[in-house]
Parts: sequence; structure tokens; C-alpha cells
Amino acid sequence: MLDGTTTEIKERSALRINPVKTCQPIGAMYAALGIHGCMPHSHGSQGCCSYHRSHLTRHFKEPVVATTSSFTEGSSVFGGLANLNQALNNIFATYNPEIVAVHTTCLSEVIGDDIPMIVKKTREEGKIPEGKYVIHANTPSFVGSHLTGFSNMTVAMVKQIAETTGTPKNQINLIPGFTDPSDIREIKRIAAEMGVKTVTFPDTTDVLDCPQTGVYEMYPRGGVTVDELKSTGDSIATIALGHWASHAAAEFLEGTFHIAAHLLELPIGVTATDEYVDALRHSAAVDVPGSLVQERGRLLDVMSDMAQYLYKKRVAVFGDPDHVIALSRFLVELDMLPVYVVSGSHGNFFETRMHEVLDQQCPNATIKGQADLFDLHQWIKQEPVDLIIGNTYGKFISRAENNIPFVRFGFPTLDRIGHRYFSSMGYTGGIRLIEKMTDAFFDKRDRECKEEWSELVY
Ligand code: SF4
Repeated sequence: MLDGTTTEIKERSALRINPVKTCQPIGAMYAALGIHGCMPHSHGSQGCCSYHRSHLTRHFKEPVVATTSSFTEGSSVFGGLANLNQALNNIFATYNPEIVAVHTTCLSEVIGDDIPMIVKKTREEGKIPEGKYVIHANTPSFVGSHLTGFSNMTVAMVKQIAETTGTPKNQINLIPGFTDPSDIREIKRIAAEMGVKTVTFPDTTDVLDCPQTGVYEMYPRGGVTVDELKSTGDSIATIALGHWASHAAAEFLEGTFHIAAHLLELPIGVTATDEYVDALRHSAAVDVPGSLVQERGRLLDVMSDMAQYLYKKRVAVFGDPDHVIALSRFLVELDMLPVYVVSGSHGNFFETRMHEVLDQQCPNATIKGQADLFDLHQWIKQEPVDLIIGNTYGKFISRAENNIPFVRFGFPTLDRIGHRYFSSMGYTGGIRLIEKMTDAFFDKRDRECKEEWSELVY
């Protein structure tokens, strides 16, 4: 499929080919699903909403429910006030959610719809029942990415719901970022193992990884409740995982309610998980239990056992900046060489941080924050790698380049299911990542090596 990619690289400034990001509302919709009893609402045309729902459904293999303002030509000209006003009335009357989380789209942003004004007017008209909530986030897709949308909706949760009673609560706000339910489950499990009470938001566990009971529930039992979100203004600290997805909400809570913010990276690998455990230990004044020390030791054991297969392997990594930074730190711990590192992020932070991570071990790495998969493919054609790690779209580069071992990691993963159940976070997640990488090498060798080189034992 990508056999036509040329080796010769030409400078491009106005064209993206296979971008490493998708649009803001997808992140906002995913974040909204992490609130219990929430109906995500897309203020725009039906096409946007259908695409966002289907993209999330394909990754999580769960039905993703959301409503839309269903813009037509008329709304494009006269604005979406009437549509959103009518939509909120219909949503509460028909689906009875606890809360509606409205995000905008390109079209409603270009029109310039004033969402707070429309929500206020709708409430004054009595169309939002007493005790029900409507929050909103601006998510224009001509800037940012799905991570920006996720962050904007997460900020909206605390900005529009959090409050303080003046009495601190012995709980930690935990913002796990744009990660899979399996990852959120693992991040919460580590905190619980340490005896730390957390308010995790957004929390899509038991929303997008529900057990099959034979009974359809429009609002599954998972998700942070509105009351829990209210209480985030009284927590003793916030731990936010991921610069793009989570830090802004923690900074808001710190600026508004003086709640200490621990701004960390995703807990992938040894050091980043240590930092997360340490933040929990300091904020909640607890000890690290022996069970976590054992998990850490098991990861170190696998790292040393598999070092002979991973040492100095050249790796191409692409995906969400929060994931790519954390994963690259782990690859460096494994003495691997992330030689090409690509994300679809905006701003300079990605490249600055990646240089800090890679300059010592991999000083010649090619790092590009605002790149695309065409760039990555061309670099690989010029100088190959041993392994590609990234979302599903990497399979086409792997296939075009003699089936380079490829590990699926991050969003979206559309053609495998493991991410739903097995986390890449924490010490145990590190073991899973090593398993996936070594399996990819061994599978290729088993398939392609000469008969006399075929081994029974690795
Ligand atoms: S890029 Fe804009 S118009 Fe396209 S699907 Fe996303 S929100 Fe809709």
C-alpha cells in the first residue's frame, strides 16, 4: 500500500501525509465518557459526530454513545443556537443523563457560537432539569489534536464543577491522561496498593471495558461521579500524568484551590513509574508496600534477561507526545536506540523534552514534533530500523519495508484487542512491553531465518 513512498526527501510546509494525530473532539468525547452518567454532545454536523464515535468504537470495541446538534445548511448560516437549545431539551427528556458534556467542532467554531450563552439561555427556559449539569469545552480541530480536546474537556470538568467546602479531604486527584481503561485500571491499582484514596478523572474503566452481562446499559457503572468531581477542590494534591492531556487541569486546581500539583509523565518503565509511586508516597504520606517492590524487581529481572535481544536495537517511535516521551524513556532504560521519534504535537515542548531524554544515549536521533508518517517512512527508507512502535497505521510502513517488526502501541489500535485488557503502565506494564518487543523480533526470526539458524530456545 505504501510501496510508492519515495526515498528522496523534499521539504514540505503546507502538506501533511498520514498525520500522527486526529481531531480535537475525539479527545473531548473520550474524556466525557469518563464521567458517570454523562452524554457527550457534539455541537456540529452529524458527520463529525459519526466519525468520532466510530473511531472510538473501533479502538475500544465498545459502542460509543454521543448526541449531535445535527447542523444543516441553515445552522451554518444562522448559527447553532436553536439546534443546541433543542438538542439539550431532547437529550434530558429522552436519555436522562446526569450531565451533558458539550464540545464544539470546526464548523461551530468558525461560526463563533457562544456555548456558555446558549447553555445559560436553555437553563433559564427550564429545559435543563434541576440538579442536572451541562459542561462545555471549545475544541476546534484546525488547531491542536485529540490530546488538546481531551485536555480541554478535562479542564472543563474542574473549572465548571469543582468547588471547595474549605475543609480538606484526605484524597488525591488523579488525572491519568488519554490512556486505555486497562492503563487507568493499573494506575488506580498502584494507588490502591499503597492505600491512597484517589478521585480519578476522567475514568473510563467500567465504561469502555464493561463485562458482558446480557443487559445493555446506556450509562455503565464506571466513571467519576459529579459529586466526586465537585470534591476535587478539597483534595490534598493532584497527580497529573502527561503534559498534553493532564497538566492543564492540575494547574487550574492549583491556581484556583491551591492544591499542590505533581506534573508527571505517563508511568511507563522503571523511572517514570518510580516517580509516580514517589508522588503518591509524598502526597499521601504513605509507605511503598513490599508488593510493589516485588513488581519492580520482576521488571528489572526481565530487563536483564532480555537485554541481549534489545541492546542497541534501532527503533522508530511515533504517536501521541505523552506516550512517545514516556515510552522513549523506557527504551533508553533498556539500552535501545530510539533513532526516529515523531509526534503530531504542537509547540516546541516535545522536541525540547525528547532531546533531554535522548541526547546522551542517542545523540543523532531524528526528532520531529510536527511530522507525519510519510516523513517517518522516508527516514526508514534512508536508514532502516529494527523495530517500529506506534499505532495501527504503522503496519503499512512495516509491510512496505520487508515486514520490519512492529509493536502496536497507543491510539488508535484498530486491528488488535490486547490494549483493552493488558496495560503498558506501571512495572507490570513494562514487562508486557518487553514481551511484545521480544515477541516481534522472535516471530520475524522464526518466520524468515534459514533452517540451520532456527532455534528452539531463545
Ligand atoms: S476535523 Fe473538524 S470537520 Fe473534520 S471531523 Fe474533526 S471536527 Fe469535524
